[in-house]
Amino acid sequence: MAAEDPVTMDKLVSLCKRRGFVFLSSEIYGGLGSSYDYGHYGVLLKNNVKAQWWRAMLQERDDVVALDSAIIQHPATWQASGHLAGFTDPLVDCRTCKLRFRADKLEEASCGRKPSKRPGETPECDLTEARDFNLMFQTTIGPVREEGSIVYLRPETAQGIFLNFKHYLQFSRKKPPFGIAQIGKSFRNEITTGNFIFRMREFEQMEMEFFVPPPEAAQWHGHWLEQRMNWWVALGLRPDHLRLRAHGAEELSHYSSATSDIEYEFPIGFSELEGIANRGDFDLRAHAEASGQKLEYVDGASGERYVPHVIEPAAGVDRAVLAFLSDAYDEDEIEGERRTVLRLHPLLAPVKVAVLPLVRKDGQPELAGEVYRALRERVQAEYDEGGAIGRRYRRQDEIGTPWAVTIDHQSLEDRTVTLRDRDSLAQERIAIDELGEEIERRLRAPWRSPKLAG
Ligand code: ATP
Repeated sequence: MAAEDPVTMDKLVSLCKRRGFVFLSSEIYGGLGSSYDYGHYGVLLKNNVKAQWWRAMLQERDDVVALDSAIIQHPATWQASGHLAGFTDPLVDCRTCKLRFRADKLEEASCGRKPSKRPGETPECDLTEARDFNLMFQTTIGPVREEGSIVYLRPETAQGIFLNFKHYLQFSRKKPPFGIAQIGKSFRNEITTGNFIFRMREFEQMEMEFFVPPPEAAQWHGHWLEQRMNWWVALGLRPDHLRLRAHGAEELSHYSSATSDIEYEFPIGFSELEGIANRGDFDLRAHAEASGQKLEYVDGASGERYVPHVIEPAAGVDRAVLAFLSDAYDEDEIEGERRTVLRLHPLLAPVKVAVLPLVRKDGQPELAGEVYRALRERVQAEYDEGGAIGRRYRRQDEIGTPWAVTIDHQSLEDRTVTLRDRDSLAQERIAIDELGEEIERRLRAPWRSPKLAG
């Protein structure tokens, strides 16, 4: 049995703030609900997550191409996609405490009174009937605010892909099965907020629309479920914290004939990390009808034409960051001292290697500087010469740096250094000339979470 997992949401929020991963947005003005800013290490971690997604989607396949579409699209997009009519949450207001709740999540909400009760639970609660509330943010385009100038911030990146489908058939000479992948910001005026970066009003999505001949849709849905699950596991998420959950008929979105969620056991319990939907031909047909354009594949040789079906793996970048942080967070004891450590997969770690002179004299900082400049040519590295060596190790452990190089008096004599491993704490003596190769070798090696038992 593994030791009890020490992670809690409060500990993650506090580590993220203390070490500069994530801050509450506009904090000096008291913060803005469900908006967060990423600090230095958060940016590096998020970039690594996105780079690994692109790697799996593009570099390691030859049937997916990339797109970066506009956030503000023609408003007809949202009419055709069904978002104007259907992208809503049912809301109820309490006339007594003046708070607003999602009607389908009342059992998870707390009402305004203390001690906290569920909305509707006390005799004073006076809830309205549920009303539909659209989650899209509106703004206007152009200098005049008038009828026809209303536009929306996209609530998903997927529609930009459907709008460009025609271009891809022409320029990329792709034929189904093929996919178009995109990473970008999406916006939703979410009602149930809280839970840190799990649910934000402005967040990033990694979505891929995979266009297939209709008879092959179910088979490709299975393929993508497997691929995506393997991706999360290969990047270190513990398999016992992941599960697949198929949507029931009542839960399916208006466009979907089958959806399965990959759920991760966050500190708040099992929740959606990524959705993998079979969208059928709903979107291409809807946009073809609304735009009057033909959005279909025509086979040059046989003349066969059809509207492809679409399989969509849709993941959130911020939820991925939260899952990787939760999975990595650990506490242990070294020589009687408590340590907090992020056991991140080395490929995701914001900094791969820290270079630390043991003392700030005797030529050690100069040699350490030379080692650092050579290493940063290859990987994200950090130099730190301030304070006791133990404190500097602790700091790197807290940001998840997998390796630390220490320069000591022997280094000046024989050009060797010690290479310390974050998880095993093993320290090996290694020649400076071999360091870069060794770190790149370790980065490529398979990795398994040390939090897994056995
Ligand atoms: P939920 O049921 O949690 O609201 P959803 O089913 O509406 O999510 P999708 O529309 O399937 O989510 O979006 C795909 C992915 O985008 C989700 O799996 C999630 O990782 C991410 N995502 C969606 N909404 C948010 C949000 N408000 N904040 C952060 N990430 C989000």
